[in-house]
Amino acid sequence: MNDENPTLPSHSRREFIKQSGLALVTLSLPYPILKISKDNNMKNNKNFDVIIVGGSYSGLAAAMALGRALKKVLIIDGGKPCNAQTPHSHNFLTQDGKTPLEIATLAKQQVENYDTITFFEGLANSGKKTNTGFEVQVTSGKIFWAKKLIFATGIKDEMPNIEGFSDCWGISMLHCPYCHGYEVRNEKTGILGNGEHGYELIKLISNWTNDLTLYTNGPSSLTIEQTEMLKKHQIKIVEKEIQKLEHQKGYIQNIIFRDGTKAAVKAMYSRNSFEQHCSIPEALGCELNDEGYIKVNPSQETTIDGIYACGDNVTRLRSVANSVAMGTAAGMMASKKMILEQF
Ligand SMILES: Cc1cc2nc3c(=O)[nH]c(=O)nc-3n(C[C@H](O)[C@H](O)[C@H](O)COP(=O)(O)OP(=O)(O)OC[C@H]3O[C@@H](n4cnc5c(N)ncnc54)[C@H](O)[C@@H]3O)c2cc1C
Repeated sequence: MNDENPTLPSHSRREFIKQSGLALVTLSLPYPILKISKDNNMKNNKNFDVIIVGGSYSGLAAAMALGRALKKVLIIDGGKPCNAQTPHSHNFLTQDGKTPLEIATLAKQQVENYDTITFFEGLANSGKKTNTGFEVQVTSGKIFWAKKLIFATGIKDEMPNIEGFSDCWGISMLHCPYCHGYEVRNEKTGILGNGEHGYELIKLISNWTNDLTLYTNGPSSLTIEQTEMLKKHQIKIVEKEIQKLEHQKGYIQNIIFRDGTKAAVKAMYSRNSFEQHCSIPEALGCELNDEGYIKVNPSQETTIDGIYACGDNVTRLRSVANSVAMGTAAGMMASKKMILEQF
C-alpha cells in the first residue's frame, strides 16, 4: 500500500477558508456527497468493491474508470509486464517512442491521484468465491475481499531453447511489426518459424522489408505451394538448426548454426507459444478458448459471473493501446453493473 499522494496540492489560507465553508455546506447535504469524504479513509480497509489483479496498462485503465465511478478499488500487481525489456514502445498515441516504464509510471501516478484507488505491490496467489463476492489472498498471506474481480494479468511468453534468444527478446527479436517493424524497415530480417505459422508471419513481414529469410530451425514443414510462393517472392528458406544468436546487448549480429556456419541479420521475428501469467482465473472456473485466452463477452465478462478479464490475457491483438481500451471497458462495465445492482 502507498502513503498519501504527495503530488496533491497544498492549500493556501484563502483556499482553506473557502474549503472549510464548503465542508460545512457539505455536512448539510444528503448522502452521496458525504460518501466521497467517507471514502478518504478506505486506504487501510481490506474490503473493496473491485479487486484488480494485474496493475500494468490494462489493469491501471480499469482502475481509473472504476475509481472515477467512486468504486473502492484495490490493484494487486506483481510488477512484471511482458514488454519490460523493450527499449522503446511504439504505436500508442501521445506516448510513441517512450520506454514501457515511462508509460506505466505516468499511468500509475495519474491513477494514484484518486483516493478511491489503492495499489498493493505483490502477487495474488489464490482466489475464492464467497457469499458476497470473492476473496483474494496474496503471497504474504493477507486476504482482501471484493464484490467483483478483474484479471488484467497478461501472458507469459515461452522462450525457445536457443542461446541468446531471451536476451534479444523485445530488442531485436520481435513479436509484432506494428510495434517495432518501422524501426527495422528495409533491413536484413529473419523469421524464426515453420509450417503455417511461419508462412503467415513471413507474408505479413514482407510489407516492411524485401530482404527476408525464413529460418525453420530444422526440416521445413511448409507445403509445396507455400515453398513455391516464397521462391516467387525471392524469400530464402534456411533449414539448418540454430545453436545460438550472437548479439551485442540484445541487438542480433549473427545467427550461429549447429554446423558452425553463420548468417548476419539485423532483426528477427518470432511468434512464441505462451501461457496465462496467472492461473487464478482458471482455478475459479473461467473458461479459456482454444488458443489459450480467457473467454470474455463484449463487456469483458468471463464465463464466471462477477469476474472480468482484459488485456493480453484475452486477445492476440496485443498492444498497449488495445490493452488500455479493454481495461477501460472492463472498468466501465463492472462499475455500471454494480451501480445497477445497488439501485
Ligand atoms: C517484447 C514486447 C514488446 C512490445 N512492444 C510493444 C510496443 O512497442 N507497442 C505496443 O503497443 N505494444 C507492445 N507490446 C505489447 C504490450 O506490451 C502488451 O499488449 C501490454 O503490455 C499488455 O498489457 P497488460 O496490462 O494486459 O499485461 P502486462 O503489461 O503484461 O501486465 C500484466 C501485469 O499483471 C501482473 N500479474 C500477473 N499475474 C499476477 C498475479 N498473480 N498477481 C499480481 N500481479 C500479477 C504482472 O506482474 C504484470 O505487471 C510488446 C510486447 C512484448 C512482449
